[in-house]
Amino acid sequence: MALLGPPGCGKGTQGAVLKLKLQLAHISTGDLLREAVDHGTRVGLEAGKLMAEGKLVPDDLVLDLVRKRVEKEGAGYVLDGFPRTLAQATGLDLITDDIGQGLDHVVSLSVPREEVARRLGGRKCCPDCGRLYHQTFSPPREPERCDDCGSGLVIRDDDREETVLERIRVYECQSAPLLGFYEEKGLLRDVDGSGAPEEVTARLLSAVGHER
Ligand code: AMP
Repeated sequence: MALLGPPGCGKGTQGAVLKLKLQLAHISTGDLLREAVDHGTRVGLEAGKLMAEGKLVPDDLVLDLVRKRVEKEGAGYVLDGFPRTLAQATGLDLITDDIGQGLDHVVSLSVPREEVARRLGGRKCCPDCGRLYHQTFSPPREPERCDDCGSGLVIRDDDREETVLERIRVYECQSAPLLGFYEEKGLLRDVDGSGAPEEVTARLLSAVGHER
């Protein structure tokens, strides 16, 4: 399955829930790239600056990361934040042809622009384990500390206001055309991504034919 939608639509949150509920590997290209940046790899060095500016990382770098991970995971995965361009979608077709397992569903999580800005506005993350928090919707138990590992929370570079606006613009120009691509293939399921995470999960599971 692939999860599409603007930044802040809940792809990361729902990807983590689907991993547990449907026993799928959760493959987030944002997480893979942040890991590469933290480790200072060649990909990380090239990706870091673009990510901090809210721009997309080149398709060939991302496709390479995804191919390695999908080949390693084998059956059953949820792609979060990938594909983001038509070139990535056609590249993914080649990968899935090679492993003999195509996408069953492409879920588009729709959230109004104002709600996206509100959600990303208060977002903080744990620099060590990557868990996301929101000062209003999902605050940590102890202010500014991660519930899981106790590290101090930070604002991701790409969650700063000017970068958020650029990420929304990039989504609308480069990623929104993917909806037509998957609609034509009969794979697209449009899911209302507004409201509480549990409500979105229930809609999503029903859209892909799994009740809770
Ligand atoms: P995310 O965590 O999915 O919001 O991704 C954070 C940032 O990583 C994005 O703003 C991009 O700079 C980069 N990124 C993540 N996934 C991709 C992708 N599929 N293609 C290009 N860049 C990506």
